[in-house]
Amino acid sequence: MSKKIIELVNVTKRYNGVTAVKNINLYIRENEFVTLLGPSGCGKTTTLRMIGGFEDPDEGDIYFDGVRINDVPPYKRNINTVFQRYALFTHMNVYENIAFGLRIKKLPKDEIDRRIKRMLKLVDLEGFENRHVDSLSGGQQQRVAIARALVNEPKVLLLDEPLGALDLKLRKEMQIELMDMQKNVGITFIYVTHDQEEALTMSDTVVVMNNGEIQQVGTPVDIYNEPVNRFVADFIGESNIIEGVMIEDYLVEFSGRKFKCLDKGFGHNEPVDVVIRPEDIDITDPDKGLIQGVVTSVVFKGVHYEMLVEGGGFEYMIQSTDMAPVGANVGLTFNPEDIHVMKRGS
Ligand code: ADP
Ligand code: MG
Repeated sequence: MSKKIIELVNVTKRYNGVTAVKNINLYIRENEFVTLLGPSGCGKTTTLRMIGGFEDPDEGDIYFDGVRINDVPPYKRNINTVFQRYALFTHMNVYENIAFGLRIKKLPKDEIDRRIKRMLKLVDLEGFENRHVDSLSGGQQQRVAIARALVNEPKVLLLDEPLGALDLKLRKEMQIELMDMQKNVGITFIYVTHDQEEALTMSDTVVVMNNGEIQQVGTPVDIYNEPVNRFVADFIGESNIIEGVMIEDYLVEFSGRKFKCLDKGFGHNEPVDVVIRPEDIDITDPDKGLIQGVVTSVVFKGVHYEMLVEGGGFEYMIQSTDMAPVGANVGLTFNPEDIHVMKRGS
């Protein structure tokens, strides 16, 4: 495991009585691609701005490579930022935009040239040196902004919803490109998005936030398969969240039946919330199902059908390539490993 490069310890930030970030603790490792994910207003940008040095925490400490940096100004932090509104110099060409910071630092001309050539290659804009930035597409402009940040060779790059202004197709392409760039340059990326799919696609580690607090930190697979609470289960992907009771280790009751599961460590007969993902439920004949129900709605979604099935005191959402029409009696099946149990009301 590589070492911690950024660490936040008990960090709180308030704006006129509103707590934007509430006592968060987080560390980020060297070369990691970490994403802060959560709904609008949950404190992602504030967290990023404190790491960048554009906001001071009211409480707590921020460390860079083990050194406390609360009082270090942004330009001395070895951290660069790419904002959603990529503030490029529209009267300059691509080359000069990327060169700007290096000229201020008075780097030798050939060094500047060498670095810019490398950056243009990295962001796939070779041959665009003399183009004015306002003649470029949104995606190309954002690549210039990324090149301009990376050319300073920061240890950490902060990206605040950098693809937010792009249309879906371009955003998906840029997601892949950004991941490749991050692996190629070997720089820590701290990325902010409210788009859960984007977070799951790109990140080594996802930090789920809500109301200024960290809800869960984990790999995309962990966050998806083992959400720690209702908020995470609901926010990441679609879920059926059913009230149940944990009978004993590996045995949970819901929808009027007991089911084997892989969860343990709850109290005897403890009330729990059970999560089952729609794509983990299959429909079958009523007599072969674990739960019997009636289809109340069917929507064709392209890759699958999305159906609602009323049964066992709950309305289950199911995503399946098999379809049963509205009104059909069906059975629902799922596997023990597809049941995830959480503390009730967490
Ligand atoms: P996010 O980036 O997740 O959408 P922000 O970090 O921008 O969230 O905001 C978190 C909370 O702090 C919100 O309630 C927001 O209104 C508030 N906030 C952010 N910046 C300021 C500011 N400069 N002045 C007052 N309130 C702010
Ligand atoms: Mg924001």
